[in-house]
Amino acid sequence: MSDKTTSSKPYAVQRSEQEWREALTPAEFTVLRKAGTEPAFRGEYTDTKTQGVYSCRACGAELFRSDTKFESHCGWPSFYSPLAGDAVEYIEDRAFGMKRVEVRCASCGSHLGHVFEGEGYDTPTDQRYCINSISLRLQPDEPSGSA
Ligand SMILES: [Zn+2]
Repeated sequence: MSDKTTSSKPYAVQRSEQEWREALTPAEFTVLRKAGTEPAFRGEYTDTKTQGVYSCRACGAELFRSDTKFESHCGWPSFYSPLAGDAVEYIEDRAFGMKRVEVRCASCGSHLGHVFEGEGYDTPTDQRYCINSISLRLQPDEPSGSA
């Protein structure tokens, strides 16, 4: 018996709960650190098509590229693949009596959203990373000059 948390490896970015509270807004803290979910269709990136990289709002790690963002009409930003395989980690989530896979930032362990597969979306992976806008921060690409 141990009272350690179930986390097996230390995250590159580690902060105490108090430090996270100070670093994030209350809404960000609720989603990122308490695995909350922002309301559907309210997130700032739900329909964003700007080219760029989406980073973790908690630690700044690069997580998704706009190339893999697609219109799922589910109310949250949806991606079919993370930027790199090890950018995110997966936690089995059995809340609400169904099995879902939670997606977390691999650098700081913050909650991002969930990943679903086999839904029939016309994407290369048939996966949908359903991610809270508030967990991300878009860094637009440099304007290329060709309008
Ligand atoms: Zn992070």
